[in-house]
Amino acid sequence: MEEIIAAIRNIPDFPKPGIQFKDITPLLADGRLFHRTIDLLAARHADQGIDIVVGIEARGFIFSSALAYALGAGTCLVRKPGKLPHAVHQQTYDLEYGTDAVEIHTDAFKPGQKILILDDVLATGGTVAATVELIRSNFEVEIVEIDFLMELEFLHGREKLAGLPMHALIQY
Ligand code: IMP
Repeated sequence: MEEIIAAIRNIPDFPKPGIQFKDITPLLADGRLFHRTIDLLAARHADQGIDIVVGIEARGFIFSSALAYALGAGTCLVRKPGKLPHAVHQQTYDLEYGTDAVEIHTDAFKPGQKILILDDVLATGGTVAATVELIRSNFEVEIVEIDFLMELEFLHGREKLAGLPMHALIQY
């Protein structure tokens, strides 16, 4: 785990002044550490019968597709508006200034499926909370867990997921 943490680079003042961005590209470039990261995530869910791993645009997709492959599950995409080609459900959420939205295909799941939601970083929790609302208000599925590579604890995003099982491999 220490090696994985060491492979995540801090970029000060990106994308805006005052933000310290966690850059995962050195981790992705190290085949052994990337493999280990996916193995650690997969070990939590080995015998749970997960049907679909949901990835959140865009860095979430890197981990969700690899995790889905490791689990023998399918994967599905939660994307920013206008990117998905078929009919979508949409959920808006508040940003510091303005609003944003996430979308999912209307046929993303079958009733009763067991799903994981996965993203690289839990920051304020706005994106993942909107994703949970998007899924819960439109589908009858079981959210087995919401997983992250990293949780930025000082932003208290976890509070937006009250009551839902969640796990982050790394806490900052
Ligand atoms: P939130 O909605 O504030 O929790 O932000 C989470 C989203 O922003 C995730 O989809 C992340 O990919 C992205 N994000 C926020 N902070 C960072 C960071 O430091 N590094 C990489 N991605 C980040």
